[in-house]
Amino acid sequence: MCAVATVDPGLRARHDALVRDVQAHAYRYYVLDDPTVSDAEYDALYRELVALEQAHPELVHPGSPTQRVGDQPRGDLVKYERPARMFSLDNAYSADDLRAFDERVRRGLREGERFAYVAEPKLDGASIEIVYEVAGSRATLTMVSTRGDGKVGELVTENVRTIKSLPLVLELAPEIGEKVDRLTLRGEVVIHRKDLDAINADREKNGEEPFANPRNAAAGSLRMLDPRVVARRPLRVSLYQLVEGPKLHGTHAESLEWIATVGLPTHRRQVICASIDDVLSAIGDFDRARGGYPFETDGVVVKIDEYRQQSILGETAKFPRWAIAYKFAAERVVTEVRGVQVQVGRTGALTPVADLSPVLLAGTTVSRASLHNFDRVTSFDVRVGDFVEIEKAGEIIPQVIRVLHDRRPECTTPTPVPTECPECGTQVVRAGEEVALRCPNRRCPAVVRAALHYYSRRFAMDIDHLGPSLIDQLVQSKLVSDVADLYDLTVEQLVELERMAKKSASNVVAQITGSKQRPFDRLLTALGIPQIGQVAARQLAEEIPSLEALLELGAEGAARAAGSIHGFGPAMVDAIRAWIADDDNRAVLEKLRARGVSVPYQRARVSLEGPLVGKSFCVTGVLSRKREEVHEDIRAAGGEVHDAVKSGTTYLVAGEKVGQTKLDAARKKGVQVIDENGLMAMLGKPPVGQTSLV
Ligand SMILES: [Zn+2]
Repeated sequence: MCAVATVDPGLRARHDALVRDVQAHAYRYYVLDDPTVSDAEYDALYRELVALEQAHPELVHPGSPTQRVGDQPRGDLVKYERPARMFSLDNAYSADDLRAFDERVRRGLREGERFAYVAEPKLDGASIEIVYEVAGSRATLTMVSTRGDGKVGELVTENVRTIKSLPLVLELAPEIGEKVDRLTLRGEVVIHRKDLDAINADREKNGEEPFANPRNAAAGSLRMLDPRVVARRPLRVSLYQLVEGPKLHGTHAESLEWIATVGLPTHRRQVICASIDDVLSAIGDFDRARGGYPFETDGVVVKIDEYRQQSILGETAKFPRWAIAYKFAAERVVTEVRGVQVQVGRTGALTPVADLSPVLLAGTTVSRASLHNFDRVTSFDVRVGDFVEIEKAGEIIPQVIRVLHDRRPECTTPTPVPTECPECGTQVVRAGEEVALRCPNRRCPAVVRAALHYYSRRFAMDIDHLGPSLIDQLVQSKLVSDVADLYDLTVEQLVELERMAKKSASNVVAQITGSKQRPFDRLLTALGIPQIGQVAARQLAEEIPSLEALLELGAEGAARAAGSIHGFGPAMVDAIRAWIADDDNRAVLEKLRARGVSVPYQRARVSLEGPLVGKSFCVTGVLSRKREEVHEDIRAAGGEVHDAVKSGTTYLVAGEKVGQTKLDAARKKGVQVIDENGLMAMLGKPPVGQTSLV
C-alpha cells in the first residue's frame, strides 16, 4: 500500500498486533474450538481495532478482520478460468474398487517402490480454491473460486472473506515469503449439522422450505450475491490441499501440518496408511466415528502421500491417478415394525408411517420412517412385526427400503389399506390418477388443524401465539372446528386449557381479534384456496374487493371475475369456482362475515409515473419488513409484482436465506438479482439497517 510510508510506525505496529491477536483468537475459537479468552475480551480487542481504524483510516488494509464484509451486492457471479484444472476424484464404492486402485498405483510406480497413502474424511460441502498473494512475509487473501466444471469456476471471494475462521492475512516466516509469490489452496465450505438445524428452524418459522442437507445450504450460501447476507450464514471452511506454495515438504501430510501452523483451517483427521489394508481399516474407523463429527461426511479421500509419486502417476483426462474418493454406502439398518400409523395432511392426504423399534442410524436415533403411500405398503407387503431395512435419504428423512420377508414371524396379518379416515372415520377417496388416498371431510380434525395453522401464518392472517399445541387443544376440545370459530374464543375458554395463563390467553384473543383488520386479499390467501397464493389473492381482490362482494357474486360470478384477470389460467378459475361452490366453504365465509372479519381491499394507488413503471419484481427471502409491505411500495411506485420468477420479470429481490432454486431460475431467465437495498435505492429510499461486522 502506498499510504504505508506516511503512517506513524508505532501506530502501524499496534494495528498489526491487534490484527494478529483478533485473528489468532478467531482461529482458536472457530477452528480449534478451544478459545483462550472470553467473548468479552475478544470483543474488547475487536472494538479497539475498530476504534484505531476509525481514528486512523490510513491504517486500514483489506486483511484487517474489520474488512470481512463488503457492502455491495453484485449483479451476478463472475466466471474465472483457473490456470490448473481442479480435478474431481474418481469414486470407489467397495473394498474391491480400492484394491483395484491400489493395483493401478503399483503398476504406475517402479516395481517394489515403497509408498504411503493418506486417508482423510471427505467433507460434504462445496469445493473452493483459495489464493493468497505473498509480499514480503505477508500473504493476503485475494481470490476464491468455486470448482465449477473444474476448469472454469465462479469468483466468490467476497462471500468467502466473511468466513471468520479463514484469515484474511497470514504472517509467513521471512525465508518462506522470499521463496513464493502466492499460495493456492483447495478446500471445502461446510455448514455444521447443528448450525443447519438452527437455519432450518428459522426458515420453517418464516414459511420457507428447509435445506435438505448441509451441502445444499453451503453451496447455496456460497453463490449468493450479497456478502452481507452470506456473513450471517454460519459457514466454515476446511482446507485439504496445498496446490501451490513453498516446496518445504515432500508430502501431502506434511503440507497439511504446515497449513495448520500458519493458522489456516484444516480438519486434522488425516491418517497415514502403509498399505491398502490399512486404508480399509481407517475407512472402517471413519465410518464408525463420523456420526460424532460436527460436519457431514460422505466418504473418505485416499491420496498418495508423496508429491514426487503423485506427479509420476499423473492424471487421466478426467481424474488424477494418485487419489480416489471412497463413498460410504447410504447407511442402512434393520429394525422391527411395531405399528403403522396414518397421518392426515392439510389437503386430507393420508400418509402411512412405520413405528419402529428405536435404532441408531447415521448418528441419530430413529423410531419412525415414512412409507409414502398405501400403494407402497401393499407392494412391499409391510406388516406389523416385520423386520425392515431403513435408510436415511440424504441423511435427513428415514424411509423403509425393503422388507425382510424371510424373517417374518408367524401369525402376521397384512396391513389394512384404510377405507376410512383414522381421524374422523369418513370414507376415504382416491381422485383420478392420484396415488394418495384422501379424507374428503373438511371438518376432519387433522385437516382443520392444518387449515388453522395455515390461516395464522405470517403471510396470511398473521396471528401470533397460535402455535401447534394450542391449535391441537382447540380442535380436540371442539372449541374450534373451522377458521371462523377462532373469533368466538374467549379468555375464559382459553384459561381452561392446559398450560394457559390468563395473560397469554388475553394475548391470544387480542391477536385473533386484531386479525379482523387484515385487508381482504390477506383473507383470500389465508383460506388456502388451491392454486391461489399471495399474489393471485391480491389480483383477485383487485376485482372482488371484499367478502361481501364475493358472497354476492357466488361461485359463477367469482369465476367470471377471475377469468378476466391477466395471468389467471383455467385451472385457477376452476379452483376458485369449485372452492366457493362448496357448501362448507360458503358457510365459513358467511360466519367470517358475521364476525366482521377482514376489511375491504384498498386498491393500491397505481402510479403511472413512479420510478418503477414498466418494471416487474419477484420478492423472495427474508426482508427487513413484511413482504406484503415491500409489494405495497413496489406497486405504489408503478412497479408490477410477480409471484414467481417468469421470463417477463425484470428483477428478483433476494432477501436473506433465499432459496437456490429461485436464484437459479432467475439466472436462467436472465432476471437481474438485487437485494433489498438495491430496491430501496430504486425507490429513492434510504438503505435498511447495516449488517454488523462482528
Ligand atoms: Zn378425516
